[in-house]
Amino acid sequence: MDYKKLAEMLFPNIDKNIEYYLNKYPKRELKEGALVTRVAPSPTGWLHIGTVYQALLNKTLAEQSGGIFYLRIEDTDEKREVQGAADIMYPCLKEFGVEPMEGYVNSDLQIGEYGPYKQSERKEIYQAFCKELVSKGLAYPCFCSGDDEEDCDYRKEQKRLGVQTGYYGIWAKCRNLSLEEIEENLKQKKPFKIRIKADGDGIERIVIDDEARGKISFPKNFIDYVILKEDGQALYHMAHLVDDTLMHTNLVVRDESWLPSVPLHKQLFEFAGLNSPKYLHTPQILTIDEKTGNARKVSKRYDPWADSREFIKQGIPSDAIREYLMMLLNSNFETFRLNNPDLDMKEYKFSISNMNKSGAQFDHEKLNFISKNVISKFSAEKVYNEVLNYSKEYDKELYELLNSNKDYCIKMFNIERNTIKPRKDIAKFSDVKGLYYYFFNELFDKNCYDFDERFNKEDILMLLNRYLETYNEEDEKDVWFAKIKVLGEDLGFASDMKVYKQNKEAYKGSYADIASIIRMSLTKEKNTPDLYEICKLLTKKEIARRIEILNKSL
Ligand code: GLU
Repeated sequence: MDYKKLAEMLFPNIDKNIEYYLNKYPKRELKEGALVTRVAPSPTGWLHIGTVYQALLNKTLAEQSGGIFYLRIEDTDEKREVQGAADIMYPCLKEFGVEPMEGYVNSDLQIGEYGPYKQSERKEIYQAFCKELVSKGLAYPCFCSGDDEEDCDYRKEQKRLGVQTGYYGIWAKCRNLSLEEIEENLKQKKPFKIRIKADGDGIERIVIDDEARGKISFPKNFIDYVILKEDGQALYHMAHLVDDTLMHTNLVVRDESWLPSVPLHKQLFEFAGLNSPKYLHTPQILTIDEKTGNARKVSKRYDPWADSREFIKQGIPSDAIREYLMMLLNSNFETFRLNNPDLDMKEYKFSISNMNKSGAQFDHEKLNFISKNVISKFSAEKVYNEVLNYSKEYDKELYELLNSNKDYCIKMFNIERNTIKPRKDIAKFSDVKGLYYYFFNELFDKNCYDFDERFNKEDILMLLNRYLETYNEEDEKDVWFAKIKVLGEDLGFASDMKVYKQNKEAYKGSYADIASIIRMSLTKEKNTPDLYEICKLLTKKEIARRIEILNKSL
């Protein structure tokens, strides 16, 4: 067979070859050991939290080695593409603090010398690679239609016979077409795709070396997979060969579901006469399936919470999400964090050998816990700015309150902050209103009291009215506290906890109960940050107003 002639017949308009593109996109000038990594989402909707996880890993590896992390849009599947989704990727990754250094930004902007970074703009390059494979007799045109569908005739027959399904061996009808037959098909304008001429025999095995999992043996690929579709667009496998070669990715980090495709990828690189990059297949993020109760991969279809925008909508800071994802990725990150609570995450030396090998369940509680920790370390100004930004988009009422009371709010966020054990109450910015509403009169007034039934109305009112009489804004905390104790004693509450515990019947309660009554009266909450600080911030005038309301409503 004259393969050169065949290649010309199939791709008459393609005049460039692999060599041409290798020259056009020369090796990157990076220091020894620098990793070139990428994240390559398909624009099929929103950005999945799993893509943020991949991006974090890719970016960390590139940054720590002085390399490059870029974004490529894998839009070869037109049917699944969602309008505008490609342009969401970069801003979303940026929002999570994992923005690429190079690649596709939006339809008007791509950064870097190795583009285009959108696969639909690279058709010609894929065709040039395919043409060369055909010209070497390593790929061929296939005119079968619908033959890759699950229920096509030959697959049905394969299932009946209990043999491996797929286009190979005697089932690969177009593999041995003569040049004349192909010419005839082309004359009839029959659409064709290109298939790789697999050279595995189903017995011979190859060993691949995954950076995280080590050596794994697979049968050499023997299926003639489609590499170029009838519309001239590449399939993932071909695009991977071409793009990762020309963009000089030297470490392909991708989901473990791609692991079984490595033999095919190795074959493609070998056929093209190119060195394949290294591979690192990441463990998946799992969730418990509500129906079956079993762990399964988090999916775009069944897990709307995995939409990265959901995390933003709730106001979980991106720092917390990165911390959490890093913990899923690397088994010793948690120890690093415990030993270095204040170090920037960038100081953590990520090592592939410490990567978790099996999938990890996404634990929302744990994320909350981490997030509380992260926010507790923010300065009051930062919390203010973050919540202000957040509420501008998601809670107009809160936004107005924050915006018109800046100093007051910073003081509010500063209560029990900047201490050795800062308060860990805010897990997400959407928690703020529920936690801090009582600092704002209009929100406070809308809520109800929930006093412990042990305390009667008269005692509560008496206590609060006396509190107001003795309250002095100038008092230091110890004076304020001493006054509370005295006030309680006068009303039959024990000022000494030991004494109280020995003889509970003799008292209405202890000084701790006094504090809870004042707390409930002034905040309508059982748990709050430091009551002394709250009172100072509210001012005596507002305390008086709240006690007046209490007098009217009890
Ligand atoms: N578009 C592929 C995916 O979303 C990318 C896989 C890869 O990183 O190579 O699964």
